[in-house]
Amino acid sequence: MSATIIDGKAYAAGLRARIADAVKDLGQRGVRPGLAVVLVGEDPASQIYVRSKARLTVEAGMASFEHVLPASTREAELLALVAKLNADPTVDGILVQLPLPKQIDAQKVIEAIDPAKDVDGFHPINAGRLMTGVPGFVSCTPLGCLLLIRSVRRDLAGLDAVVVGRSNIVGKPMAQLLLSQSCTVTIAHSKTHDLRAVCRRADILVAAVGRPEMVRGDWIKPGAIVIDVGINRVPNPSAGEGKTKVVGDVAYGEAARIASAITPVPGGVGPMTIACLLRNTLEAACLRRGLAMPA
Ligand code: NDP
Repeated sequence: MSATIIDGKAYAAGLRARIADAVKDLGQRGVRPGLAVVLVGEDPASQIYVRSKARLTVEAGMASFEHVLPASTREAELLALVAKLNADPTVDGILVQLPLPKQIDAQKVIEAIDPAKDVDGFHPINAGRLMTGVPGFVSCTPLGCLLLIRSVRRDLAGLDAVVVGRSNIVGKPMAQLLLSQSCTVTIAHSKTHDLRAVCRRADILVAAVGRPEMVRGDWIKPGAIVIDVGINRVPNPSAGEGKTKVVGDVAYGEAARIASAITPVPGGVGPMTIACLLRNTLEAACLRRGLAMPA
């Protein structure tokens, strides 16, 4: 058996096209959703993310406001910028790129963002809404994972789901989303005993760990849906000295022989994150104006 490859790149392109259509419709009513992205410092990976977020925001017909601040920025300065963006009527969504330099308390910044503009879904109010089943903004990466899972299986009720990783931005919201779909959910982490056996129970296995190819083929239940969130840069000597490549948290070749469906890395979960960010921004723009969210 060979798994269906879940093409996140294609799914995300389709989602962005639907968002662009909805943005065009809003434009005829004089509304242009706007996303503000704040980058502090010069982390190269963050710079790449922020650039592609800005490009895809504009491609979807939305306004993109970029704020690039030096690594020496003080916490008070960043909080003042967030307050300004909260008050700016042209800004529907605010994203502060993480990680932040060590002199800034990231949690304080997250909590300063107006929950109605918190398109990353990291504010405790939105995390609490997810936990209590009240509509709110859901963290983009887990939301993208759920859309990919449901692209291969609509009804998830009663399935055993295992999420490896318990971060606030991926693992925990992912587990909540799967629970909201009536899965029986296990959250595994670095202290979990016999992780292999726990993973082997999963009809749906989500790996969000940050350890290259940790999940082996024999950790996977035959026929499982496997979602690989990991983005790990590793040496790639076969491409030449000093070359690197990106791999996930799952040993893809082995897993694809056992699973029924699997996301590749790259081209799986990654592209969904930005598409879901745009979706949340569109939703924020509609909600703030009392408009219905386009289907
Ligand atoms: P964190 O480092 O915040 O969390 C990692 C989690 O993995 C922790 O809960 C940790 O457990 C757990 N873990 C670490 N080692 C082990 C182990 N040996 N066995 C079991 N569990 C372990 O990472 P993130 O959640 O932010 O990200 C996870 C991965 O997803 C990374 O590779 C990141 O790059 C990627 N990512 C991809 C995105 C995308 O758009 N595709 C977006 C965000 C992240 P404990 O809590 O016990 O320490």
